[in-house]
Amino acid sequence: MLTIRSLYKTYPNGVRALSDVSLDIPNGMFGLLGPNGAGKSTLMRTIATLQEPDAGSIKLGDLDVLADKVAIRRILGYLPQEFGVYPKVSAEAMLEHLAVLKGVTHRGERRELVGALLHQVNLYEVRKRKLGGFSGGMRQRFGIAQALIGDPKLVIVDEPTAGLDPEERQRFLNLLAEIGERVVVILSTHIVEDVSELCPRMAIIAEGRVRLAGEPRETIRALAGRVWRRVIDKGALADYRAHMTVLSTRLAGGATLIHVLADGRPEEGFESIPPDLEDVYFGQLQQAAGARVA
Ligand code: ADP
Repeated sequence: MLTIRSLYKTYPNGVRALSDVSLDIPNGMFGLLGPNGAGKSTLMRTIATLQEPDAGSIKLGDLDVLADKVAIRRILGYLPQEFGVYPKVSAEAMLEHLAVLKGVTHRGERRELVGALLHQVNLYEVRKRKLGGFSGGMRQRFGIAQALIGDPKLVIVDEPTAGLDPEERQRFLNLLAEIGERVVVILSTHIVEDVSELCPRMAIIAEGRVRLAGEPRETIRALAGRVWRRVIDKGALADYRAHMTVLSTRLAGGATLIHVLADGRPEEGFESIPPDLEDVYFGQLQQAAGARVA
């Protein structure tokens, strides 16, 4: 269990990136969902001991993450948002090298480890190929392989599916799900489906604050009976936005389909629909925006 308490971070330019962030993250896949600029990377880097918060505490079991950085780094696997690779090195050679850096000095043991990792992320067939020739999905799977060296207890992946095509994305998520059975895996993302398909627990973060934390199913259930749908003229959208909490808009065959959050039917023509995680997410973002205006 990773326990985060009252974490604060303000950058020197005055941007408050984290504000009273507290989370309990058990073993398994945990989705950290939020829009760009919400503070996800700041939180990920802080847990990964790459930067200091202004205040607060992080514990993994009994281990004090902020005080005992060396111990944490030994059991941490991290895939940063900007994951650079050496383009001219093969996947196999790079993993070998990284394994040496992580302290796997015995040659036979290292070969075995690298081979197993390449199989696990389905890159064994292309292990001799240069990383520069890898597709985005292959590169991310390589990123996971390097994060898994040393058998980490805590795995952090920051926005890993951005830019992947649907097939590669699915493949990548399946890989994460397998890992997540044994350790704490934190997946930060702005893509709602990453969380709904994969994460038994999640939190929504916006403007540096945790807006909601829990099981996706429970948060969806809490909106039951409050999400309404209607097709409108595109030109009327601004008017609807002014009068109602519009969760989302979608173009459907030339018309505009909107979802609205309301305790009762907002007006004739709206039909009640079962909520999904996207409704939950956009509802929280609306509330965050509302709180800012107020
Ligand atoms: P996310 O990963 O959710 O997109 P970030 O943690 O990267 O969010 O950023 C949160 C906020 O902090 C943003 O407003 C961003 O511009 C700002 N920020 C991030 N890193 C720095 C930095 N090194 N210096 C100043 N501001 C930063």
